[in-house]
Amino acid sequence: MEKILVIEDEVNIARMIQLELTREGYSCDCTHDGETGLTAALSGGYDLILLDLMLPKLDGFSVLSQLRERSQVAVVILTAKGDLDARVQGLDLGADDYLCKPFAMRELTARVRAALRRKPETKDSATLYAGDLRADRLTARVFFKEEELSLTRKEFELLVYFMEQGDAVCTREQILKEVWGYDYMGDTNLVDVYIRYLRSKIDDRFGVRYFRTVRGLGYAFGADHE
Ligand code: CA
Repeated sequence: MEKILVIEDEVNIARMIQLELTREGYSCDCTHDGETGLTAALSGGYDLILLDLMLPKLDGFSVLSQLRERSQVAVVILTAKGDLDARVQGLDLGADDYLCKPFAMRELTARVRAALRRKPETKDSATLYAGDLRADRLTARVFFKEEELSLTRKEFELLVYFMEQGDAVCTREQILKEVWGYDYMGDTNLVDVYIRYLRSKIDDRFGVRYFRTVRGLGYAFGADHE
């Protein structure tokens, strides 16, 4: 049975989530502040953490960054609706997904299933190449020529996804589904935000052009898009 930890200070919401997840067949524990939540998350055994951001004692961002120093457990953050900055910050800190409050229980369980499906898997080829760019899946390190890039986890996953696609044009919906794991149309702005990060860290920095916008379709990736 997969184990889920809910870190949410609104006791009623936490109880509702616990009830729903238990009904879906998960084992589910609740904590109501950041400190207790972090301790519980680190003491381990959990397959997924549902993490509220506004928490007493230790806020969700601090919980997440401290958790990520020691654990790669799946994390879905709970954010206020429309707060793109908080979502992006949470994803940058290594959250796998986010859920905007108020949310429907069906949406919650869909996100939980998607996040649990996306557990790290071993792939055939550890190193991917595109021109002078090299990505190592095992160590999650990326180099341009001999220079190592500093990418967040999500930026790394997105880059690897593009490297795997070759010359194919990827739509924003496809990217959301494959990299973020959404089963349905999510917030495609997020894709543009992350492509912008990668362009500034790779294309702008090294004077190359890997990421090409294909108008009306999405993005294409390649070393030879001059
Ligand atoms: Ca809260």
